Amino acid sequence: MTIESPPRAWVEVNTEAIAHNLDVVRQALPDTALMPVVKAGAYGHGLEPVARRLDADGIAFFGVANAGEARRLSRAGVRTKPFILGPTFPEEREEIVLNNWCATISTLEEAEHFNRLATLYDKTFLVHLAVDTGMGREGFLPQQLSEVVSPIQNMPHLMVDGVMSHFPSADEDVPFTQNEIGQFTECVEWLQQHFRLRYRHIAASAGELGYEVPIANLARPGLLLYGVAPMASVYDGLLRPTLRLYSRVAVVRELPAGHGVAYGRTYITDKPTRVATIGIGYADGWPRSLSGKGARVYINGHYCPMLGRVTMDQIMADVTHVPFVSPGDEVELIGPHIPVTEVAEKADTIVWTIFTGLGPRLPRVYHSVK
Ligand SMILES: *Cc1c(COP(=O)(O)O)cnc(C)c1O
Repeated sequence: MTIESPPRAWVEVNTEAIAHNLDVVRQALPDTALMPVVKAGAYGHGLEPVARRLDADGIAFFGVANAGEARRLSRAGVRTKPFILGPTFPEEREEIVLNNWCATISTLEEAEHFNRLATLYDKTFLVHLAVDTGMGREGFLPQQLSEVVSPIQNMPHLMVDGVMSHFPSADEDVPFTQNEIGQFTECVEWLQQHFRLRYRHIAASAGELGYEVPIANLARPGLLLYGVAPMASVYDGLLRPTLRLYSRVAVVRELPAGHGVAYGRTYITDKPTRVATIGIGYADGWPRSLSGKGARVYINGHYCPMLGRVTMDQIMADVTHVPFVSPGDEVELIGPHIPVTEVAEKADTIVWTIFTGLGPRLPRVYHSVK
């Protein structure tokens, strides 16, 4: 006989909500092809289950971070082409070319390497030319484009099938971003005289909601799919939350006044206090930076302040005011009562790091609730 104990903490993912959020984006951008971004394990939601759910939803690409994620998609039987968002490493390129995954080029060296590999395997490899309109992370600078067109045109096994850029401050600097759209448009119009650019794209979640980019015909939503809009928009209220984080109470203890809680004893009880020890910690991705920031958890219908520092595997919460609490009771850390945006704000970080920080120790449980 084998016995498996339930997990101390887990993540619940609603894949239908992710599909719904993709529809919200689709309705907002009716004439635009979509590249759902599923890098970093679909922002902690689980790469394969999310990609499988969205695979047949009429999308152009899946956005991934590296060859390893592209490989996982293809091994999971996903049909949609993976698009490697950032610059590729030389060691990844042979696998990328062999599998016809899509990649970007930022330098002539990368282009030459892809062309050599494609020649070796006797195929035409499709790339997107990256243009750096302000992000400073990848791409050719706009003023370099005139010098690189003819060398790239002379690479017989390389085909430039698209052009991309990436907004650095869409949610922070509207005038910069508007100017950047103008620059991107000029680059695309110029490149279109030399290449047949099937795809033209610049916007991630923030850019999709806040701006019109008439020259673009592909969008790369990440955070929006996972239910959070990085800036206010007319679509607020339409997105559905996609993920909940739960743990359980391990033990409930009465501490006298004047007793410290957790490392550094940054919290000292000011009265007799009932304290629940809960089975989640920073090793699971519950941020240590939440310590002492007024973070709260939700137990049996009550908000309970977290006490002291987050430890590796446990946190403590004040349950003095909760009439009934026993070991095994469920604790909501992210969910209907505690939005992920609240956690990010209290942890002094962004929602992206909360989602992607959810660790491998947390089992993912999947639901599809329409
Ligand atoms: C991660 C990423 C995205 C998705 O960003 P969100 O802000 O989560 O929508 C889009 N494009 C690129 C190039 C990225 O690296």
